[in-house]
This record gives sequence, structure tokens and C-alpha cells, in this order.
Amino acid sequence: MTEEVRWIADEMLGKLARYLRFLGYDVRYAKDMKDGEILEAARAEGRIILTRDELLARRGKARAFRLISPEIERQLSEVRRLFPTLRTEVQFLRCSVCNGNLVIADKSTPAPPKGVPQNVWDTIHEVSICTSCGHAYWEGTHTEEIRQTLARAFQDRP
Ligand SMILES: [Zn+2]
Repeated sequence: MTEEVRWIADEMLGKLARYLRFLGYDVRYAKDMKDGEILEAARAEGRIILTRDELLARRGKARAFRLISPEIERQLSEVRRLFPTLRTEVQFLRCSVCNGNLVIADKSTPAPPKGVPQNVWDTIHEVSICTSCGHAYWEGTHTEEIRQTLARAFQDRP
């Protein structure tokens, strides 16, 4: 496997950061970071900068990409155009909230982990938990909405 691209998303791209995490990518969200700090973090951590800011994109040179659209589906489509190998399916690998790694919860215990309703724990085969913040993920109505957004975003590029 080739080394996977990692990203840093500027403050205007919080939703995109969450969606890229749902695709399994390592995305740092540059909230409250100055341009200089973003550039430094990108260099130090080997991340690609995604930004809506023209100046930051210029300063980031080959390491930065400017997105034009303010809208999530178009942004995802833009990223896919820039990176044709971008995954298009939801992966339970990264926490969309904090970028932590997800692990599959041990279903041998009868009581659900924090944040997981008992009926979900009893009926859903696989529940993933963030090792950093404890947020729980499973296939449900929320992931269905995310899949639909992804499908619309990528429909023009199968
Ligand atoms: Zn988390």
C-alpha cells in the first residue's frame, strides 16, 4: 500500500474535514490557527493544505489546494478532481469529531459503551469507538445521509 495522503483543512472547511474523516482520511482541522501555523503544521506533519483562502493557497505552493465552492458536495467533488484516487465510500477508521482512530467495540459485554443505545448494541453487528474521545459509530440513519451526500458529490466521477 502506498502512503496515504493526509490533510489539514482551514477554518472554513470544517464540514469537509468531517466528510474526509468519514472517508477514512487523517484530517487535521485548523481551527483558530493562523496561516503561518497552518503552513508550519503542514510541513512538519506532511499534510496537504485544503483552503478556500487564495493567499494561503499561494503561500502553501505545491502543498496547498484552493477550493472554490462553499458547498460540501461541490467541495468533495473538487477534492476528487484534484485527487482522482480519493476514496468515495464511508470507512469506520477515523473519528469525524476529533480525527482519532476508531476501534471495533468488544460485543462480548452486555452493556453498551457510553453513547450507544441498548437497542443499537443489541441489534447492530459492529460498533466502532473513537480511541481519543469515545464517540461511537455504527451503520444507521446518520451514515445513510452521509452516503447519499457522498454519492451525489461523486456521481459525475464514478
Ligand atoms: Zn473522537
